[in-house]
Amino acid sequence: MDQQLFIAGRWESGTGSQVVTVRSPASGEAIGTAVMAGPEAARRAVAAAEKAGPLWRDTPPRRRSEALEAIARWIGEHVEELARWITREEGKPLPEARGEVRYTASFFRFYAGEAERITGEIPPSPEPGRSLYLYREPIGVTLAITPWNYPMAMIARKLAAALAAGCTVVVKPAEETPLCAAALFQGVAAALPPGVANLVTGLPDPLGEALIHDPGVRKITFTGSTQVGRHILHAAADRVASVSLELGGNAPFIVMDDADVAEVVPAILRCKYRNAGQICVALNRLYVQRRLHDPLAKALAEAVASLKVGDGLEEGTVIGPMINQAALEKVEAHVSDATARGARLLVGGRRLAEGGLDHGFFYAPSLLTHVPEGARMLTEETFGPVAPLMAFDTEEEAIERANRTPYGLAAYVFTRDLGRAERLTRALAFGMVGVNDPVPSLAEVAIGGMKESGLGREGGRQGLDEFLEWKYVSVRHPAAP
Ligand code: NAD
Repeated sequence: MDQQLFIAGRWESGTGSQVVTVRSPASGEAIGTAVMAGPEAARRAVAAAEKAGPLWRDTPPRRRSEALEAIARWIGEHVEELARWITREEGKPLPEARGEVRYTASFFRFYAGEAERITGEIPPSPEPGRSLYLYREPIGVTLAITPWNYPMAMIARKLAAALAAGCTVVVKPAEETPLCAAALFQGVAAALPPGVANLVTGLPDPLGEALIHDPGVRKITFTGSTQVGRHILHAAADRVASVSLELGGNAPFIVMDDADVAEVVPAILRCKYRNAGQICVALNRLYVQRRLHDPLAKALAEAVASLKVGDGLEEGTVIGPMINQAALEKVEAHVSDATARGARLLVGGRRLAEGGLDHGFFYAPSLLTHVPEGARMLTEETFGPVAPLMAFDTEEEAIERANRTPYGLAAYVFTRDLGRAERLTRALAFGMVGVNDPVPSLAEVAIGGMKESGLGREGGRQGLDEFLEWKYVSVRHPAAP
């Protein structure tokens, strides 16, 4: 795949642009080259989307829906090939990558249906001789900026909804995973008229900066860190462009003492250690009611110690590498900060280099207890395979400690008591709460954060609203002749 720029219906190799080697985070092997495009490509991509805008907006919803269905079908026919790109470039084990590919297809399938259900309103008029109409129109050229941790699903969550709404799109994927974006776009490109969806790969600066400041962009939909999200909000403010932000999290996972340890352990493994902990909705803080603290710590320590770490392409691997050296160093810093403050390390706590892992960014799945408040791993997003387990006594204390964060993306509650589940769910200041459910994300539902975890929602019917705006038309009836 030498060509990663897809502009105005044509693949380009970015002549004159910088080209970088993309390496596997597991082995360090070169897996391809990627174009790091600049402001010239940014301008052309936005111009192509502007040009295609009226045509796509006026395309009948059924036709837009068919295009989205065709993309979903194409993904379904290429699961293995796409999954291998994800594992090679991002690192997650192949079975997980296949899951991401199917999740990616689910957004195109879901929004294929929603494309046909965009309706306005006709409010009753307060006076005779007058009609009021509220139309829904696509906002216009959309810039989708995505992270590397779910390199195909995060594109789909934005692209499918924007296309269903009638917006044309420029996608800028993370510089760590340009090849996954290009692989997905093979199917996207074949289903759409030129200019409707464009792909440009490159660095935050100059490419990202050129795009977020381009006057042709009317909507920016961003998934990534809170720090960059804040910067994008400032950039969009200058021209009052619409912005949706899916940002970082710091998820509390609360286990009440009526929960079943045998059910909670596998749920924690999924919520924390999947994708080596590099998930925005990953458990970041594990609060366990005191009676269950010791038995859960023991059972979990055994389970975590048995997780097989390795190259995601190898059969049996459960935990792959981290994305890069900086991610690894952040996890190392969080663990040494916690242990220096008195936390006890039950499992892991070190970089893995033996057994052929020395060329990758591997960190041992880790579990700590007695982590004191104030430790970095409780206040910042760790984004790695490390869980801090803390004891609490009362429901009120769990709520207070869980909410003690500027983030508000996801929270989890494990209990068999419906009353407890209701009280906790209502009191937790998070955009999504999984009750006995460690993986609540789905294409069918609105996902997003409260507080510094974001603005707006993605997925579900609400995810479509982010790409639409209202137009009000008032009609006064001419007098009868
Ligand atoms: P990041 O913020 O570093 O980068 C995200 C994207 O923004 C990349 O495409 C990057 O190139 C681009 N970018 C960075 N600076 C830019 C600039 N100045 N102008 C334009 N574009 C710029 O985040 P990341 O490391 O790729 O992803 C990890 C973060 O994403 C974590 O914080 C994670 O929680 C978050 N995330 C959130 C969700 C969610 O649904 N809320 C989902 C996945 C990941």
